[in-house]
Amino acid sequence: MTKPEHIALLDSASPADSKTYYLKTFGCQMNVYDSERMMEALARDGYSATDAPDNADLIILNTCHIREKAAEKVYSDLGRLRDIKNLRAAQGKNTVITVAGCVAQAEGREITRRQPAVDLVVGPQSYHRLDQLIGRVAKTGDRIVETEFEGENKFAEMTAPRRVSSPSAFLTIQEGCDKFCTFCVVPYTRGVEFSRPVADLEQEARALVEAGAVELTLLGQNVNAYHGEGASGRSVSLAELIRRLADIDGIQRIRYTTSHPHDMSDDLIVAHRDIAQLMPSLHLPVQSGSDRLLAAMNRKHTAADYLSIIDKVKSACPGIALSSDFIVGFPGETDTDAEATLALVREVGFAQSFSFKYSPRPGTPASGFGEQVPEALKTERLLALQALLEEQQLTFNRASIGQVATVLFERLGREGGQLVGRTSHLQLIHATGPASMIGQIARVDITQARQMSLTGVIQAA
Ligand code: SF4
Repeated sequence: MTKPEHIALLDSASPADSKTYYLKTFGCQMNVYDSERMMEALARDGYSATDAPDNADLIILNTCHIREKAAEKVYSDLGRLRDIKNLRAAQGKNTVITVAGCVAQAEGREITRRQPAVDLVVGPQSYHRLDQLIGRVAKTGDRIVETEFEGENKFAEMTAPRRVSSPSAFLTIQEGCDKFCTFCVVPYTRGVEFSRPVADLEQEARALVEAGAVELTLLGQNVNAYHGEGASGRSVSLAELIRRLADIDGIQRIRYTTSHPHDMSDDLIVAHRDIAQLMPSLHLPVQSGSDRLLAAMNRKHTAADYLSIIDKVKSACPGIALSSDFIVGFPGETDTDAEATLALVREVGFAQSFSFKYSPRPGTPASGFGEQVPEALKTERLLALQALLEEQQLTFNRASIGQVATVLFERLGREGGQLVGRTSHLQLIHATGPASMIGQIARVDITQARQMSLTGVIQAA
């Protein structure tokens, strides 16, 4: 799951005496969801958002720990924020600096040791107590590090009304992971798998629809391992949850991410055939095409297992847009392993994918593996893989020219009269139309295709 960092402003009108906050989100969609929940709680508590840290009484960095660079970027940001805090202090203004997210969870007290200007370090399991923690910092001036895995259902405690910043909204249904892939920090930063109860998700889904959402993306680090509690305590699978959410008035589209091949059950594959609201796009990370590396990564499946799942998915939902994640340069990777990955990519044909150089993460088993691959070789293999993936993405987009796509328009484009939306295959698309089309699903004739996006003409209603 990757998404560039962004500053979200859900509302700007603020009473003169209200406190202000600046929130910056790094990393994946689950961090975006968590940030939205934090912003809702802050709005309930009288805070309003600012997009400049210099004007903020409260600063929150919601961080990502997935790659080395991501964590170091946090510390360089904190250096700049310390200077802002000192400047504001000279003007008699207080500033509370908070580090949240996976770096907070992984590094805890190390953060306040490396950067004493930080007042609060709060892990993903404690967001429901953010207001209390900020209150304690403000009252006592103490530096607080709160990274316990409390094991309680934090979501149930997050009661601020849901709001949306787009007709396509995120809904976290599952958190944590029990897979322990040898390169991954998630089981250590997000804890064991927890699936939210079905009734809570139905209630939140209705609240999101009331707030203006027509599409829901169901989130989880291992979303297809979802097994939430249903009525009378029965365990409910992701496929059944999707069926139940599809019955809610106003939900026109459903997506889910991120899945693990090991949990791609037959009922979920059949759901792609039978549920009209379930969009024909599937993100299924494979990481490598080499069985030797898949075993070293503890991925619990072979390349052949993956390909047979893909075959089943393609026959249940012909034309489905497939995407994946890849790691190149995993310890011990040989030319043969790298070639096996390229061969798998050629066999599947991906609509889009994410690929990265292996980055040793502190505390993960693979960081202690020998045979680390030289950086130059990692770069060479990454470029070869990306060239193939880009070729496949362009081929997939070009095949849409002359087709009619159903598009959910999500926002205005950069050019006058331009709208930006997503096709049912999750392709980014631009078209000319009135702002009143935002939140609408329209039929669009595809006229042009580029690497990352399409252009089309909205059919007359
Ligand atoms: S499945 Fe593996 S890569 Fe994905 S979150 Fe879990 S441990 Fe990490």
